[in-house]
Amino acid sequence: MCAEGRPEVTEDGVRFFSGQVGDAYLRRRPIQRGLTVVMWRGRHVAEPTALGEDEADRYWRELLIVGRALERVFQPVKLNYNTLGNSVPHLHTHIVPRYADDPSPGWPFPFPEHEPPAMPVEALQAEVDALRAAIMK
Ligand SMILES: [Zn+2]
Repeated sequence: MCAEGRPEVTEDGVRFFSGQVGDAYLRRRPIQRGLTVVMWRGRHVAEPTALGEDEADRYWRELLIVGRALERVFQPVKLNYNTLGNSVPHLHTHIVPRYADDPSPGWPFPFPEHEPPAMPVEALQAEVDALRAAIMK
């Protein structure tokens, strides 16, 4: 993750927010509409406890900037902020919109029966544009 730099587009998603310490990517293959991953940028950090006080403040503030944009655009019932890292040991947080028709309402991730296909490029770009506009407000 450190080696990838700060790309605009990755295999998994398209960036719609670039902050001082984080980049937010809308997933191409959303198991839930609006599923976003915020990557910590800068030095290598695996655990949030390794952040300095200012870094931790900034990271959390940027998560909230992204979360508010997701609320405006997708209007979920709630958002989950899942900071895992057991499979990818570089600090990142999945922001997972939860909706009234959630297939697994009691679980940290919705688990649809089948993995969804990648979104059509135009639809993905339209959502990225809407999120960028929501962040400007
Ligand atoms: Zn790293």
